Amino acid sequence: MRFPLALTAKIARHIVKHKMLRTPKFAMVLQLEPLHTCNLTCTGCGRIREYSTNLKDMMSLEDCLASAVECDAPMVSICGGEPLIYPKIEELIDGILKQGRIVYICTNGMFMRKKMRDYLASIYNASQEPTLAKLLSEKLITDKEAEAIRKGKSDNRPVIRPSKWSYWNVHIDGLEFTHDLIVEREGVFKECVEAVKMAKLLGYQVATNTTVYKETDMKEVEQMFEYFSALDVDGHTISPGYEYDAAKKDMVKRLNKQPEDFFLTRKMTREKFAKIEEWGERFTIFGTIQYQEFLAGKREMTCTPWAIPTRNIRGWKAPCYLMTDGHYGGYHEMLEKVDWDKYGVVDGVARDARCENCMVHCGYDPSGALGTHYQRGDNWKNIKYNFGAKPKPYYAGREVKAFNGVSIGKGHLAEAKAAINSPRAAMNGTQAVFAQPAESGSCGTGDTTQRDELLAKINKKDA
Ligand code: SF4
Ligand code: SF4
Repeated sequence: MRFPLALTAKIARHIVKHKMLRTPKFAMVLQLEPLHTCNLTCTGCGRIREYSTNLKDMMSLEDCLASAVECDAPMVSICGGEPLIYPKIEELIDGILKQGRIVYICTNGMFMRKKMRDYLASIYNASQEPTLAKLLSEKLITDKEAEAIRKGKSDNRPVIRPSKWSYWNVHIDGLEFTHDLIVEREGVFKECVEAVKMAKLLGYQVATNTTVYKETDMKEVEQMFEYFSALDVDGHTISPGYEYDAAKKDMVKRLNKQPEDFFLTRKMTREKFAKIEEWGERFTIFGTIQYQEFLAGKREMTCTPWAIPTRNIRGWKAPCYLMTDGHYGGYHEMLEKVDWDKYGVVDGVARDARCENCMVHCGYDPSGALGTHYQRGDNWKNIKYNFGAKPKPYYAGREVKAFNGVSIGKGHLAEAKAAINSPRAAMNGTQAVFAQPAESGSCGTGDTTQRDELLAKINKKDA
């Protein structure tokens, strides 16, 4: 079947229980943000711009675990910031798994290999030598790291070990050039690929997590799915980006870039996601079939933001993961006090102007799972999709030129300038990226008009 039976059954039991109890609103996935510190500064990231990224500002382990119990969601997505920076991340994951919940560790991938080396050290004995030999031959660890693993682990802290109840959920927004441009640092894509390879070799479950912006080339996204499918990843989450106020301000101030050049309108989202159902047949796309139809423009939906609540250092964030009108002390207090009818888009009409272009996964996917917009035939579609055969890995994806050019790594404008001026970039095929048609414009540079405008701005700024 497409998704692991144990996971599907756990989620189904949770929904059936609350439907039978007639619970009006309940949580499906907790978005837990133990801290907002991050080692990257991705373009478009609302979190690091809206909240304090000071390492002193973090939730206690006890608070994190109590939040999961309080809202009782069967799935917890640990995000941030970069959750692997959280000093007690191992204890947090361990604690949530012990509560019987599914865990998604949403990471930018930069510290994954370190955490997996800790795991190897914790289980090391002579029988692990073939695994170390394989990791060494694939250059996923160094000789020095292998030696450190052989010494074993010196403390009794838990480690992040493979489990059928947890996933690494790795942020990947495109192939090398595009991804490094968006995360604003060179080498991040390469590290993510190596981390994914190592994770699969050690038996972890891995998903990729992609955000689509106006400049995203959907052909490239398809190639990215092909490439990671060939690496045996277990699934993919994909969502259009949301225009966070803080991210928009940063874009104007720091990148001299207009938000409307970066974020999608509803119309554009539907154009971008026209092939999502086809991808759902070829790849294991995490998300309901109803959400896929919504993205493709085949049905309307209203979000159910209370089903994916966000808990962070300031409390329970309302009304949703994306928009902040307040923070509450408890999940149930938030459910009671927020006027939910003020938010969302109903029959294509936004109740709040900030919702107008929102079609994001964390707002709308639960609406599909909860059947809030049931249409005839939906049950059958769900059965067919969830219990249908899991798409086979696409091993021809090994041919994808994932390492498709220099990425330079200092933000959109500097990247664009350097890519155009650099003879090395031209030799590496970056010009081919620039030459793509406007519709598929990769990373804001595919459209030559956009590129010229971008360069005019750079030159103006430099003058
Ligand atoms: S890795 Fe995640 S939290 Fe960090 S800057 Fe990028 S999007 Fe934001
Ligand atoms: S549409 Fe829903 S999920 Fe999106 S911003 Fe509005 S309230 Fe949040």
